Amino acid sequence: ATPTAVMVGTGVGASQGVLIKGGQALESAHKVNCIVFDKTGTLTNGKPVVVNTRLLKNMVLKEFYELIAAAEANSEHPLAKAIVEYAKKFREDEQNPVWPEARDFESITGNGVKAVVRNRVVLVGNKSLMLDQHIPIPIDAEDILVETEEMAQTGILVSIDGQLVGVLAISDPLKPGAREVISIIKSMNIKTAVVTGDNWGTAKSIAKEVGIDSIIAEAKPEQKAEEVKKLQAEGYVVAMVGDGINDSPALVAADVGMAIGAGTDIAIEAADIVLMKSNLEDVITAIDLSKKTFYRIW
Ligand code: ADP
Ligand code: MG
Repeated sequence: ATPTAVMVGTGVGASQGVLIKGGQALESAHKVNCIVFDKTGTLTNGKPVVVNTRLLKNMVLKEFYELIAAAEANSEHPLAKAIVEYAKKFREDEQNPVWPEARDFESITGNGVKAVVRNRVVLVGNKSLMLDQHIPIPIDAEDILVETEEMAQTGILVSIDGQLVGVLAISDPLKPGAREVISIIKSMNIKTAVVTGDNWGTAKSIAKEVGIDSIIAEAKPEQKAEEVKKLQAEGYVVAMVGDGINDSPALVAADVGMAIGAGTDIAIEAADIVLMKSNLEDVITAIDLSKKTFYRIW
C-alpha cells in the first residue's frame, strides 16, 4: 500500500476508535487467518461476580466471607475484587468495611492467595493451589467444581487451617454480541482459538457458548506466547486479542497484537492495534481497514 493509503487507513481507524500503531500492522492485518482470543476481559466482560456459595463445613457465612475477604483484599486480581465486593454484603459497615488484618500474605500467581487471618491459615484459589499446599479435596467439592464449570462459571476453593470448607461460584458473562462476532470471523475463513489461564472445564464451556472450537486452558503467560508461535509454525498468520499483563508476551509474538482499550497499560503497549471501544466487533473493523488499504479502496 502507498504511504497515502496507510495514512488514510490509520486516520479512518482512529476516527472509529481503532488505533493502529504504524503501517506494518495495517499491512499484516488483512493476511490474518487465525485469531487467538484471551478469555477473561476479552471474550467476557472481565467484571466477575460471585453467584453462589457452597459451604462444606458448619460455618457462619459472615465469618467465612470475613476471613476470605481479609486475604483477598491484598490481591489485585479481578476474582479477588469480586470476592471482596460480595463479602461486603454480610457486614454492617458495608460502605467502608475494615477487614481483619492479614499476616504473611502471599499471592501465588495464576493459582490464588494465602494469608493468616485471626490466627487461621486461609487459602483461596484453584485446585492446583490446594494440591500444592497439600489440602485434601473431598469428593463433594470435586462434584461442585464440575457442576460450576459446566455452567461456564469459575469455581474457587477455600480452605481454613488445612481443611477445605467451601466452594464459590464466580460468573463472568460473555460480552454482548461475542457469539455473532465469532460467527462472522469464522465465515471469513479465519481459524479461532481461546487461550486462558482459567481451568479447562470453564474454558470449554465458554468456548462452546461463543462458538470457538480450539482451546488452551491453564496457560501461563509464556505458554500463551508459545501457542501463538506454534500456530505460526503451522503456517498461520496469527492475530492475538487480549487485555491482561499475562497476554503481553503473546501480543508481542503475534503477527498482529490487538489490545482491548479497557485493558492493562502493559497489554496496550505490547499491542500493534488498540480497540479503544473495547468491543469485539472492532477486531473485524481492523481487518476490514487493512483490506481496504491493501486493495486501495480508499
Ligand atoms: P485468567 O485471568 O486468564 O483467568 P490467571 O492466571 O490470572 O488467569 O488466574 C488463573 C486462575 O488462578 C484463576 O482462574 C483462579 O482460579 C486462580 N486465581 C488467581 N488469582 C486468584 C485470586 N486472587 N483469588 C482466587 N483465585 C485466584
Ligand atoms: Mg484477560
